[in-house]
Amino acid sequence: MMVKILANDGISKSGQAALEAAGYEVDTTTVAQERLAEHINENKVDVLLVRSATKVRKDLIDATKGNLKFIGRGGVGMDNIDVEYAREQGMIVQNTPAASTRSVAELVFAHLSGMVRFLFDSNQQMPLEGETQFKALKKNYSAGTELMGKTIGIIGFGRIGQEVAKIAFGYGMKVMAVDPYVEEAEVKLSFFDGQSVSFKVKPQSMDEVLANSDFISVHIAGAQKALIGKEEIEKMKDNAGIVNTARGGVIDEVALMEALDSGKLKYAGLDVFENEPTPAMKVLMSPYTSLSPHIGAATLEAQDRIGTEMADHIIEAAKGW
Ligand code: NAD
Repeated sequence: MMVKILANDGISKSGQAALEAAGYEVDTTTVAQERLAEHINENKVDVLLVRSATKVRKDLIDATKGNLKFIGRGGVGMDNIDVEYAREQGMIVQNTPAASTRSVAELVFAHLSGMVRFLFDSNQQMPLEGETQFKALKKNYSAGTELMGKTIGIIGFGRIGQEVAKIAFGYGMKVMAVDPYVEEAEVKLSFFDGQSVSFKVKPQSMDEVLANSDFISVHIAGAQKALIGKEEIEKMKDNAGIVNTARGGVIDEVALMEALDSGKLKYAGLDVFENEPTPAMKVLMSPYTSLSPHIGAATLEAQDRIGTEMADHIIEAAKGW
């Protein structure tokens, strides 16, 4: 069967190439929202691919039923799609959660590697005082530490958590994990020359991991209440560091700021914030935070993988058409 795909918010070149290699037709025209249903029906579009711009609501789903079989969201969040309703109508709704796994995991180590040498602070001070206060600055940042030999506690041992573990093993770190839904995971590090090494990780209790980790990195899907609050922070090692690339609110920001100000925790790497896109000034201005504006998934490679991961899903689904 000739599969017709409308990539209304665009698709990566490699994704398009994979679909075309499978013999499918890929249209990358952006059709205006109000003309979308008509366009899908007139052109007998089987697959509608969107990112966040195009909305796929009940009215569009009702209007295209019979033609549209697959709604793909390049990326993770599917707030712009009436997912349950589309599925009830027999449509497949698919996102690409795996595409950004490596990008997020590497950002964790960008924050960690920078934090232990105070780069987040020295990058701000060097342009201001590097010329006049070089020696003083050198002294200020001379008590850095190494990641090798330290323990990282990974809370949420799914796709990203396990990828973080891989990098940590590469650094020579000890890995502890918390995940009530994972009994044991085999983490496989693959090297450039085809060699690989596997490590088994058995998640432990939150208390054990908090008490023994030099760094905590959270990787659970959005929690209703903060998973790491005042009580959990108190159970952490003194001078520990913490990284949040999961969702704002997984770590209680108020409790975190108190812990940084009091010296209980040494630093925090934050890619996500409770109040996006206007994070609390206190968090932004803290001298102990390494900050990025929710760019965990934002690498060129991940953008590329979104397309190829989606192509794989479509090719698999089309076998049943
Ligand atoms: P995943 O579903 O593969 O893994 C999540 C893991 O958390 C699962 O193994 C689950 O069992 C575990 N978990 C659930 N509740 C838990 C709890 N109370 N305590 C401990 N573990 C618990 O998801 P993923 O792909 O690894 O994504 C993890 C997080 O990263 C998500 O919150 C996602 O929104 C976020 N994310 C952020 C960015 C970014 O731009 N910063 C990009 C992609 C994903």
